[in-house]
Amino acid sequence: MVFYSPGRTTSYPNLPPDKGIRYHYLGGGNEVGNVGCVFEDNEGTRMLLDYGLAPTDPPKYPNEAPNVKDAVITHSHIDHLGMAPWLCSNHRTTLHGTPLTAEISHMMWNDCYKVSRLEGYPLAWDKRDIDIATSSWRTHQFNEKWEKDSWKLKLTRAGHIPGAAMLNVETDTHRLLFTGDFDTRDSPLVSGAEPEKCDVLFIEGTYGGREHPSKEETTQAFIDRIIEVSERGGTALIPAFANGRTQDIVMTLHKHLPELDVHVDGMGKKVAQLQMEHPESLRDPSALEDAWRWCRRVSSKSDKKKALDADCIVSTSGMMDGGPSIWYLNRLRMDPKNAILLTGYQAKGSGGRMLIDEKHVPIWHKRTPIDLEVSQFSFSTHAGHSEIVNFAEHCKAETVVVYHTDPNHARPPLVEDLESRGFEVHTPINGKSTVIN
Ligand SMILES: [Zn+2]
Ligand SMILES: [Zn+2]
Repeated sequence: MVFYSPGRTTSYPNLPPDKGIRYHYLGGGNEVGNVGCVFEDNEGTRMLLDYGLAPTDPPKYPNEAPNVKDAVITHSHIDHLGMAPWLCSNHRTTLHGTPLTAEISHMMWNDCYKVSRLEGYPLAWDKRDIDIATSSWRTHQFNEKWEKDSWKLKLTRAGHIPGAAMLNVETDTHRLLFTGDFDTRDSPLVSGAEPEKCDVLFIEGTYGGREHPSKEETTQAFIDRIIEVSERGGTALIPAFANGRTQDIVMTLHKHLPELDVHVDGMGKKVAQLQMEHPESLRDPSALEDAWRWCRRVSSKSDKKKALDADCIVSTSGMMDGGPSIWYLNRLRMDPKNAILLTGYQAKGSGGRMLIDEKHVPIWHKRTPIDLEVSQFSFSTHAGHSEIVNFAEHCKAETVVVYHTDPNHARPPLVEDLESRGFEVHTPINGKSTVIN
């Protein structure tokens, strides 16, 4: 099944740079997700930041990683760690990350493996590689320093999801800061990221050129919609990603609509359990615990049936690609009192995207018309355009490398704004090396 064989796809240079720091994106340089970035100094000290895959069908992989002994995984989303099992089994790489990222990783890899089996597409790694990767972690608390040769490293809070980290690296010549996926705004789960002085800032530009609507307004519109559905006797089906979004939504419902009957299903239940075991990764651990005790966790077939009478069902998959949300949709779709509230980005080709564009969703591979009301809310935990620019200004970096971004729409307005403020801006391309002196 492995069609990702060493030596074939890497264009990584054999020798270290003459001076300064070289960076090289294997993926995620000029695209969203699918991240892998190798950076190296003139002594040959090198490291990999993230190694993900894009969970499309079939998945999209970054270029093959050169032999790296250490990789930092910023957070536990599959587009940042999906290829770590390949890495660990081929190069015996040590994975560095926060304890919560390490704990959730196993579940993310297993889920990715399961989905690849169900959909019948090949993965670049198999189940044994998951075990190798799981035992390859070396965890670091936020702000705890460690060393790699002459480099000094530490992880700081990135916002985004619990356990998500930014990486600070002090080399002999430069101070580097990699944001990973980040947000400076607080969410129910986590506090926003704080800027830190650096020379070179590698920043994600997912939302370049776009501003987020205010969180208060979005939350209010979401709450109003749920009240409307529940008052007419319907059930609001709320598809939500397992890792971060499910818990944010449950906490929001608990805070604003404690009188409602809210049921939660899918992998988000296990993720919440692990988050609660790592209170250091949460903004307000007791708020998550209270919300979690309050909602009803679905754990059996009969629970599932009971949930069909609830006011709200929060469930994976967040993009309506299988999972319990499809099971619920199939039963709720007959009654127009029910409604669907999407809570995140719906990728091209996903069930959620088809629902919005065509009013059809594949249910057990059968194209099924859906006549329910559908609304979409932006609960993104990525920094918007202004947050990205403000963050860069506060980091006082000379050079800003904009990655994890759409190179045609999101990046150009961001580059223009940053350049007008005096930054030297880099726009990396996958497979190409750049040296910063
Ligand atoms: Zn990402
Ligand atoms: Zn992420």
